[in-house]
Amino acid sequence: MPRSVTRVEQGGRSPDVTVISVSADRPPHRGQGARDPVVVVTANVHGDECTGVGVCLRLADELDGSLLRGTVHLYPSLNPEALERRTRRHPDEDVDLNRLFPGDPQGSPAERLVFATWSDLAARSPDLVVDIHADAPGAIPYVLTDRAIALRGAERVRLESECTSLADSTGLTVLQEYPDDRYSRYRLDRSLTGAVLNRLQVPALTVEAGPRLVLDAAAVQVAAQAVRGMLGSLGMVEPTSARHASRLPGTWRRDSGPRASVAGLLIAVAEPGVGLRRGDVIAEVRALGGTVLERIRAEGNGFVVSFVERAHVVSGVPVCTFGFAVP
Ligand SMILES: [Zn+2]
Repeated sequence: MPRSVTRVEQGGRSPDVTVISVSADRPPHRGQGARDPVVVVTANVHGDECTGVGVCLRLADELDGSLLRGTVHLYPSLNPEALERRTRRHPDEDVDLNRLFPGDPQGSPAERLVFATWSDLAARSPDLVVDIHADAPGAIPYVLTDRAIALRGAERVRLESECTSLADSTGLTVLQEYPDDRYSRYRLDRSLTGAVLNRLQVPALTVEAGPRLVLDAAAVQVAAQAVRGMLGSLGMVEPTSARHASRLPGTWRRDSGPRASVAGLLIAVAEPGVGLRRGDVIAEVRALGGTVLERIRAEGNGFVVSFVERAHVVSGVPVCTFGFAVP
């Protein structure tokens, strides 16, 4: 059967996690011992980030009948309770599920939920896991690569370069995660993609597109196209060469942008995705009377990925996420 729906039971009163599976409508590949590829697409681990929910439903429709080989498993919501309540974190325990992977079967309800999802996903032996998030209104869409900190030497280089080449096939700007020390400190190896990369040792990527809290049709289209780009590079759909208009070729690293040092209205000056030199003005902080209290400048060459989702800032708030050029 080319398309089926299964559920990961959560027990108790938590809603189940739904999985839509689409397989190529032809017998599995049998030559040279090669296995047909298995791709997992997950979404909405942050319950207020809805782009990926739409992407999973859209891909389920589009791939049914057009998948050339292999299987795609789509998880439209890893945090269905938070989706209903419009919150980022798991509502009962107020925790970020995306720092709990691979979960704990004897842990808190949130840890058990994560463990159930993780076990279901790992049992499908994916060759690639794509997790879809949403950054902020006005953000450029991008793909984020994790750090394989559990691996050493050539193994690490091989797995990370596999991720980079899959990321390139999305047609979006590619950003690396924080350097190793902060990657560990922020527990990013316990995000879904971090855990897949470091424990299952298969490629895992995060796609960020669209605003939060709404299912934005344009963002769904962009993120679905990015996933199709990866499926194309694995020979699972007809290859596409779509390159998003915002794509900046090159190597970039995601980081917090500069912080405001006074309180006031945040007025963006730079446009997300447009190249900046160190010292260029990113934003102004102004008083309600119009006085410019501060001009906030780029701390390095790169570009604004997204502005912070607030009109009023106080001292110490990073005004944006910045993509730094990696030399
Ligand atoms: Zn997120």
